[in-house]
Amino acid sequence: MTTSTLVPIGLLFLDELPEFNRATLEVMRQPLEDGVVTISRALTSTTFPADFMLIAVMNPCPCGYRNDSLRDCQCSPPKIDRYMSKISGPLLDRIDIHIEVPAVPFQEFSTGTSGTSSQTMREQVTRARRNQQVRLADHPTLFNGQMTSRQIRNFCRLNQSCMSLLINSVQEMGLSARAHDKILRVARTIADLENAETIDVEHLQEAVNYRMLDRQLWL
Ligand SMILES: [Zn+2]
Repeated sequence: MTTSTLVPIGLLFLDELPEFNRATLEVMRQPLEDGVVTISRALTSTTFPADFMLIAVMNPCPCGYRNDSLRDCQCSPPKIDRYMSKISGPLLDRIDIHIEVPAVPFQEFSTGTSGTSSQTMREQVTRARRNQQVRLADHPTLFNGQMTSRQIRNFCRLNQSCMSLLINSVQEMGLSARAHDKILRVARTIADLENAETIDVEHLQEAVNYRMLDRQLWL
């Protein structure tokens, strides 16, 4: 926790997330939710700013080769369960985007095909930020990620197709109210990156796909 108090408005990167002590990881729930951390001692408690962006990475199993098309995973199901159980559901629930990054085949990184350039990405992000500033101009909120539930209801209105998709996803994946709100904030941001006025099905579908660990693919 000391680390996150050192990086208000910063980025906290945790490599090999399941290798951290579970109790230590659980302490991050408050700052991830509220942007502050409260430390209590015998006679007093003090609240520090701890508004940070968390980026964490983990392997799909202890040996790292689960779901790898070229190598065999040596881990038994109980061993994988023990590894995954170091990360609690409530902690995962507080992380906006979960994404699997498969190994890149040799042909792909050797052919030099380029994705989105940094320049293009910068322009998209600048435009998305500007769209958010205009939309939230009359609110203390600066960014989509900070929108309250009420603001989400106002600014993330869904058409009928999107509504059906969201209802199905919430029911099938057993999503919490918190995950539901996160999907809408992320969908609004994806739409902003594309300079789209409204959230369309593809924006929402992408945001739902980013709740990968809620699908319990690991178990
Ligand atoms: Zn393995």
